[in-house]
Amino acid sequence: MKHILINLSLAFLLLVGACNSPVKNISPEEIIIQRIDSLNKAGFEITDYHAHLKGGLTMEQLLDHSAKTGIKYGVAVNGGVGFPVQNDTALSAYYQSVKHYPVFHGLQGEGREWHSLFSPDSIALFDYKFTDAMTFTDAAGNRNRLWIKEEAWVSDPQEFMEYLVLQIETILSNEDVDIYVNPTFLPDTIQSQYDVLWTQERMERVVTALKENQIAMEINSRLKLPSAAFIKMAKEAGVKFTMGTNNTNAELGYLEYGLAMIQECGLRPEDFWKCGK
Ligand SMILES: [Zn+2]
Repeated sequence: MKHILINLSLAFLLLVGACNSPVKNISPEEIIIQRIDSLNKAGFEITDYHAHLKGGLTMEQLLDHSAKTGIKYGVAVNGGVGFPVQNDTALSAYYQSVKHYPVFHGLQGEGREWHSLFSPDSIALFDYKFTDAMTFTDAAGNRNRLWIKEEAWVSDPQEFMEYLVLQIETILSNEDVDIYVNPTFLPDTIQSQYDVLWTQERMERVVTALKENQIAMEINSRLKLPSAAFIKMAKEAGVKFTMGTNNTNAELGYLEYGLAMIQECGLRPEDFWKCGK
């Protein structure tokens, strides 16, 4: 009996000691994984719908990352002029090569002519489709690719914005997509004026186009777009959201900006779009 009491006292002391000892150092990575876990338990299905097999990233590596982080993935192929996939044969071949993997399969339409390159049957192979407004031909006939310094034509920022907003409205009204990605992106030369150039009126026009066409808006973690003000306005209007990375290399990250925006903008599980696969 005495033995048992001594053992119990020792166990108690050890327990107290453990509680008083400094908290184990938790890495930032572990903290974010715990956050993803608690959001998933609260009804969010944390999903990155904008991953690419780029920079040597394999589907197996992506699935390992998914298992480690609790993030589900949608993996998209880029289809359009100037991309390896620009006809039905290449699009179907890509799909056949990945269809057995347990991810959502996406098609990112590139350039404004992507719809004309693929048949409806080939497009329908995919679980979802999305596009951005970073490639378009401007009034002067220049083909803009906004993420490339030499191919973003901004002579007058106000004029550029008017043209861009019109492009976004046209794309969202005419192209059959589920998500508007890399949203509200501005070229390098005017990025620092984002909050000024995206006026209330311009933001409202984009939000209205999203709402009217039932298209979700991506919250992009690599680009940290759109702004919290934009997200709050879209939420208010009933626009749905997705989270995405648009990785340009093998690093998928942890959707940090998207997770921060859930908190800052008070987003709920029902504010998010879900792939109906
Ligand atoms: Zn992309």
